[in-house]
Amino acid sequence: MDWKAVKDEVTGYLQELIRIDTTNPPGNEIEAAEYIAGVLRQQGYHPLITESAPGRGNVTARLPGGPESPLLLLGHTDVVAAQPSMWTYPPFGGELHDGYVWGRGALDMKNMVAAELMVMLLLKRQRIGLNRDIIFAATADEEAGKGNHGPGWLLDNHPQQIEAPYILTEGGGHDIRVGDRHFYTCQTGQKGICRMRIKAHGQPGHGSMPNDENAVLRLCRAVAALGRIELPMHSSTTLQAFIEGIVAGQDARMTQLLRDVLDPERSANALQQLPLDADFKAQLRALLRNTAAVTMLSAGSKINIIPGEATAWIDGRLAPGQTQESFIAELRPCIGEDIEIEVDQYSPPIEAGADTELYRTIVEVMGRHDPKASVIPTLSTGGTDAKHICPRRPETQVYGFMPYRQAPGEEEMRLIHGHDERTSVENLLFATQVLYEIVCRFGRLT
Ligand SMILES: [Zn+2]
Repeated sequence: MDWKAVKDEVTGYLQELIRIDTTNPPGNEIEAAEYIAGVLRQQGYHPLITESAPGRGNVTARLPGGPESPLLLLGHTDVVAAQPSMWTYPPFGGELHDGYVWGRGALDMKNMVAAELMVMLLLKRQRIGLNRDIIFAATADEEAGKGNHGPGWLLDNHPQQIEAPYILTEGGGHDIRVGDRHFYTCQTGQKGICRMRIKAHGQPGHGSMPNDENAVLRLCRAVAALGRIELPMHSSTTLQAFIEGIVAGQDARMTQLLRDVLDPERSANALQQLPLDADFKAQLRALLRNTAAVTMLSAGSKINIIPGEATAWIDGRLAPGQTQESFIAELRPCIGEDIEIEVDQYSPPIEAGADTELYRTIVEVMGRHDPKASVIPTLSTGGTDAKHICPRRPETQVYGFMPYRQAPGEEEMRLIHGHDERTSVENLLFATQVLYEIVCRFGRLT
């Protein structure tokens, strides 16, 4: 394989994708879908484009193989907004400077869409004999609101296009360092989402006559209480596997501290003592429990009127095994009985098993590409499109894996959703090679 040529080709696809502004809202992913479909057609595919709503385009393609269960390479083409004045190079320019492609989506996740597209083209060019269908899907609407126009819509309306028990998508492959060892995360689980409004009611009146039943004060008391409490710990299989993965090869003290993180009695102390960076520890703390972040407030409309109602919005995230009901039961004593709770959006936590042929293939291929590192199953605080798939198809194993090498202190991954998002072309090629090998090994006729 001429990987130098592949590098130039996949870089070109990424640049073109970045130049199509798919900021969501409104998305306008149809343009990206049509561009991708054009590339696939040139390679002899018969891509299908569907629109879940005007402009919300999804594109899928299939390479038929043998009777084993299909593998879906899934990516979203929409991106979050960018503020051009804050960028060194234009966010929708797709410019290449010093080995980096700059632009919104360079890391989340037009890079992986380009890599997965490249994998599909290579499979066809190399005439790889397959024991299973390989499906490609570049879908709309992951980044904003409820995400109703992407893979969930496809499963409801055109299930035959993307139905597969194995899925590779975003959310993993980050290179993390603990002690002198490094690891690639493979996202096998993600926290659930429970977004809610909490509402206080009170005695309305004139601003010149304060009363003790002011809705704003009631709400503020509840919000302040939420800021003070730490919800109880709920460990999970995925988090345990993550910690055990890191523990391998660490010294005795580090091993003890890491394992103590999972012990409710010792967790707080262990998190304080662990010689790891603050962001990593904050993430562990969040992964161990349900969290409730207050993100928006609304009350009153005039300076001289005490409103009868005040509202706060809570972005709740649930540890594996937790439900909407168990979460509310935890919050209730903190915010009080008189606060009304309305759930706006709920999707349950997800845990895929790491004991599958696909996971083992990922480990094996990575072992060859980076023998000093290991792959560890990872739980994520955030969600991917898995949250639209797993509730509809609970048996699906969704893995987040787009391996990126990061030197210690390198900041690339921190630029996701930030200004100056960019991807190194070397990493884009590295991930493309690894994904191609994973697909070949997992899908090849033996
Ligand atoms: Zn994403």
